[in-house]
Amino acid sequence: MVIWMKPSELETMRKSFNTVKSRSDSIKDSPSTKRLKNRVQEIKKESIENNDYYLNQALESFKRNDIDVLMAENAQDALDIIDELLDEYDAKVIAKAKSNTLGEINLKGHLADKDIDVVETDLGDRILQLKRTDNKPVHPTGPASHLNVSNITDIVNESLDVNVNAVPREIMEVVRGDVLNRLKNANVGISGANAIASEEGSCVMVHNEGNISIVSLKDLHIIVAGIDKIVPTLEDAISLVKLETVFATGNYVTSYMNVISGPSKTADIEKKLLKNMYGAERVVLILLDNGRSEATEECLYCIGCGNCVVHCPVYNAVGNEFGFNNYLGGRGVAMSKFIEDDETCFNSGLYMCTLCGLCTLNCPLTIPTNEILENMRKLSTEVGFYPKAHGKIKDNVSRNNSPY
Ligand code: SF4
Repeated sequence: MVIWMKPSELETMRKSFNTVKSRSDSIKDSPSTKRLKNRVQEIKKESIENNDYYLNQALESFKRNDIDVLMAENAQDALDIIDELLDEYDAKVIAKAKSNTLGEINLKGHLADKDIDVVETDLGDRILQLKRTDNKPVHPTGPASHLNVSNITDIVNESLDVNVNAVPREIMEVVRGDVLNRLKNANVGISGANAIASEEGSCVMVHNEGNISIVSLKDLHIIVAGIDKIVPTLEDAISLVKLETVFATGNYVTSYMNVISGPSKTADIEKKLLKNMYGAERVVLILLDNGRSEATEECLYCIGCGNCVVHCPVYNAVGNEFGFNNYLGGRGVAMSKFIEDDETCFNSGLYMCTLCGLCTLNCPLTIPTNEILENMRKLSTEVGFYPKAHGKIKDNVSRNNSPY
């Protein structure tokens, strides 16, 4: 069922987007950011053109680092692997970090029937989780940007049965206390990764809240990432997440950057290897294909900064119904064709796009989303998915030589 965002939510979202725009305006055209853009363009080109090589290299590197890697062809494969791991650890509570890939496989929906408490550790995601209904994110790094402090206060008071004032700090403290309390018995953490370094066998994650550190300290840390996140080296991975940060938040850097290259271990007693000193005793990386191998090459350049939706006139007008699941805006529509099918692509808003090209102009990788969608419309029409009004015009033209 389509649930359109409320006008007040759209207004708050646009205000939040304007804040990001004005913050990033001052740094996105700086000489260092321009150099970084060129560098990341080259990194992505190299990674995409030689994906098999870097995938195989990554498998070797992770094995060397004692990280288990499992390949998932599609969302169900990834969920089956996660189910098995959760059974093995008898998990009842899971600490979860923000991840578009976990949204893509619908992890929370899948675990909802299994009596497992999946606790979002990111504040924005936790607020959406407490909201329970109509809780789709509106931005990849600012999921609750459409809710104002009054909306959030109501959500928190109602769902946690508290009486917090409409003061951001008070809200933050109440939610943090509740999350930490719930996580006392969590033995599994689950997250995505912003980039994967093939040569070193490392997963790189950026965050401001410190929550990924919490997630990675549980006995088992499951990381789910698309195969498109693989880049040649750790320096490349860091370049990529730096560029993502500039365009997602308007800051040069996040408070934290976690590089996970193996389970927690020590050999400080007689050089004997012991695992699980403070962090996870086991790290499992699930590498997800889910249509990426079939995707239009340009789509794979995406670094998930969300700057395209911030500048998209359609998205600003209609909100997150333009897009597919957690993949918002035109790029999400394009990916839905590969992750799902032509019908999903059509229903995700293939014909909502005005083809104005502002997404391309504002994308750090200049991904031509408007052109991709234009081309997809042609292909979609060939398999029968086009707006009914267009069909009528087409029939009129072939019958009367006129659209009328
Ligand atoms: S398409 Fe470009 S602007 Fe949009 S999220 Fe991806 S990298 Fe960012």
